Amino acid sequence: MKRQLPAKPAPASASPARLRPGFPAKLSVPAQTEPARKAGTGPMLRYAPSAIEPPARHAPVPAVRAAGVGMDSQAVREAMVRKLQAQGVTHPAVLAAMRAVERHRFVDSALANQAYEDTSLPIGLGQTISKPNVVARMMELLCQGRTEKLGRVLEIGTGCGYQAAVLSHLSREVYSIERLRGLHDKARENLRSLRISNLHLLLGDGMLGFAQGAPYAAIIAAAGGHDIPAAWIDQLAVGGRLVAPAIVEAGRQNLVVIDKTATGCVRSVLEPVLFVPLKSGIA
Ligand code: SAH
Repeated sequence: MKRQLPAKPAPASASPARLRPGFPAKLSVPAQTEPARKAGTGPMLRYAPSAIEPPARHAPVPAVRAAGVGMDSQAVREAMVRKLQAQGVTHPAVLAAMRAVERHRFVDSALANQAYEDTSLPIGLGQTISKPNVVARMMELLCQGRTEKLGRVLEIGTGCGYQAAVLSHLSREVYSIERLRGLHDKARENLRSLRISNLHLLLGDGMLGFAQGAPYAAIIAAAGGHDIPAAWIDQLAVGGRLVAPAIVEAGRQNLVVIDKTATGCVRSVLEPVLFVPLKSGIA
């Protein structure tokens, strides 16, 4: 199901000739010095950004005999990736990212032995981490037809930080917003030892997006509302893609893809899904 949405003027820095912009994307706020940004003293302060530092990028993760997993986690992830392939996931970079990120690090130790099963798991405060095949499906939709990395990406719903970590392998830069302080802190804790320098965690209402980082090559939401917030469409670059759950008709939540083109937005409604609700405000 596809329908044309009204055209929005292209952001000044987006070039229609170059679909899916690369990084660096131009910031729409006054320039901020790196130390100021890290210290949270610049215009981003409203969102309490917390970059994961220092900048060692994707340090190799040794195969571990993880507590609670009870076996070599690399081997279990390999099995999970084979299952994803059997379910139809083909994008090499997506499979590599799913192979690389240790999902068991993001759930409570009591649930670690289920971390590589095809199941969603509770992460606290009534929220859940999506099933691996849902994460992989959404990543594939974002990366469809591309071999190079995505540019700047916005994620709404950091949760425990797992999907943000996967995204960081597929993108040049990731901004991930969470509205629940408890989960924002938990994600920061889960991600600290991974030292992912291109991932920035923000505490804020993701329904407003994060205008300071726009335009985004991709926007992904892990929570679904009644519609796609207008701010997300505004902040998506021309050539960019948005993937989010949304209620498209009475009570039915589906995965929605929006491709922003120079002449308007093309919206595709895909399979039914079950995500936690998108809520406004910070708690
Ligand atoms: N991708 C996450 C999944 C988290 S579940 C992971 O890998 O763990 C979805 C998350 O969206 C929840 O943590 C919920 O608090 C958050 N959320 C819901 N509405 C939001 C909003 N308006 N802004 C930011 N986060 C929101």
